[in-house]
Amino acid sequence: MKKKRRGKSKKAGFGNVTNSGQLVLQFVWDPVRTLTQSAFFPVIFAITTYVGFCLPFVALDALCPWVPALRRYKIHPDFSPSARQLLPCLRQTLYQHAAFVFPTTLLYWLRSPAALPEDAPGLLELVGHVVLCLLLFDAEFFAWHLLHHRVPWLYRTFHKLHHQHSPSFALATQYMSVWELFSLSFFDMVNLMLLQCHPLTALVFHVVNIWLSVEDHSGYDFPWSTHRLVPFGWYGGVVHHDRHHSQFTCNFSPYFTHWDRLLGTLR
Ligand SMILES: [Zn+2]
Ligand SMILES: [Zn+2]
Repeated sequence: MKKKRRGKSKKAGFGNVTNSGQLVLQFVWDPVRTLTQSAFFPVIFAITTYVGFCLPFVALDALCPWVPALRRYKIHPDFSPSARQLLPCLRQTLYQHAAFVFPTTLLYWLRSPAALPEDAPGLLELVGHVVLCLLLFDAEFFAWHLLHHRVPWLYRTFHKLHHQHSPSFALATQYMSVWELFSLSFFDMVNLMLLQCHPLTALVFHVVNIWLSVEDHSGYDFPWSTHRLVPFGWYGGVVHHDRHHSQFTCNFSPYFTHWDRLLGTLR
């Protein structure tokens, strides 16, 4: 297995990274680096992260009828998805990951032998790249999403499936056509490559991206929801995306609000 030690110049843009943050990341990166060399890692990581983030919301939805206090955090207090809604979503996610995501990541893995750096990224570099990747992903998905709502053929053929569930719930996050799944995966990957992100940064970005997308569809607006933590209304989050699912003509950005504000589609 090839090994690559990263030069100092790569980190220059984010300042001196020889600090305790990088030491902690190195402690994380050493075992993770071994795991990421497996061809099965990307698909297992993607499924376990997604299902792992969905399961707490599935449990909350199951508890809701018996714990009325939970309903005050629900955007649609009287709605809980049934097993007939949950199971097809889970089945579709597992099928798409086995039939499409795994072969794609396997081809990518075969084409690029693991030249993984030994050094962890600096903490500032990691945080900076994750934020940049989120902003770029948000912009790309905004353009894709707006186009797939404005062109009726694109909507019917590729995006309508994702709108089948309204109100939304966590396991409906990845209930989408194969084209939509590939488009999102492409935006996800291309930014990481453009910014030459460290593989650990890529993993952290995937975890954050999967969490934010599940939160967007969860139907729960908690005091700690991301849109309540980001100031000045910069982040739309679950309330913003729930309104997109019920009204179709607004809130096309998955996360932030600036593109919808600029183009007059924020509601
Ligand atoms: Zn939509
Ligand atoms: Zn959605």
